[in-house]
Amino acid sequence: MNALTRTVALNGGVEIPQVGLGVFQVPSDGARSVVSAALAAGYRHIDTAAAYANEVGVGEALRESGLRRDEVFVTSKLRNGDQGRGTAAAAYADTCERLAVEHLDLYLIHWPNPAAGLWQDSWRDLEDLLDAGRVRAIGVSNFLPEHLEELVGFARHLPAVNQIEVHPAFQQREAVAASTARGIVVEAYSPLGQGSALAASAIGEIAEARGVSPAQVVLRWHLQHGRVVIPKTTSPERMAQNADLEGFVLSPKDMAVIDGLDSGARTGNDPRSFSISQIR
Ligand code: NDP
Repeated sequence: MNALTRTVALNGGVEIPQVGLGVFQVPSDGARSVVSAALAAGYRHIDTAAAYANEVGVGEALRESGLRRDEVFVTSKLRNGDQGRGTAAAAYADTCERLAVEHLDLYLIHWPNPAAGLWQDSWRDLEDLLDAGRVRAIGVSNFLPEHLEELVGFARHLPAVNQIEVHPAFQQREAVAASTARGIVVEAYSPLGQGSALAASAIGEIAEARGVSPAQVVLRWHLQHGRVVIPKTTSPERMAQNADLEGFVLSPKDMAVIDGLDSGARTGNDPRSFSISQIR
């Protein structure tokens, strides 16, 4: 058995597979074969975004898989340049069209995008989509405690997830705590630190002792913390490896060792300042 059948319940009652495939930095033509390989390997959760410019390729792979729409959990994200009242809902329709699906399972505000000051209006659009039954769940990404605090003050629906950068060197304990305290599931993006987490000697030692790879140790650490993970790989061998997480358990001591590796080393952008439009 692999970890691909594990699910986590979201606050609206929808179940999300705990392990998915991320496709950031995979071009659209490549996304078609990468997502096809992932679906053939049993992945049932794909994480894309309008900004990744590969929704068309992802959609082709979904269609060619022959799987029913309700067998695959599909997430995409609102670009910064599409934020606003009315424009967010229109961007959602465009994303569905590119993916050639009637609806998404999860739609996220990609970034708070402070220069625009439009995430609040965008959230109202997402709430309307949810109320109209046009999307199964809505959430946010890169939201810090202050953003969640403000959102709770006006929102009719709380986000189902907060997708944030989390890996051993960058654990974002405040954002994780602010999310989980409100029943918002944390989805770890760059869960392997874009590969940088795998070189840590402490992780190598645990991997050797358990007879698994460093990537499996890091992903298992996320699962034991209850987080959803969306590791990216274009390699079918690594897809299989990243899903093979049930044959071992990390001890409380292993967990404490990895918990102790936080150095504040971010690999991605800082939500306090990231405000490019994301539209090419
Ligand atoms: P990850 O932490 O998933 O790391 C990906 C890197 O690790 C790639 O270089 C990959 O190489 C390598 N890798 C994957 N599996 C293994 C393995 N078993 N052994 C060794 N190396 C491995 O980084 P990402 O930044 O891609 O994050 C994952 C996903 O999170 C993205 O694809 C995207 O969906 C999402 N994301 C969301 C963001 C947001 O703002 N909401 C921002 C960034 C990411 P290779 O492909 O060659 O195997």
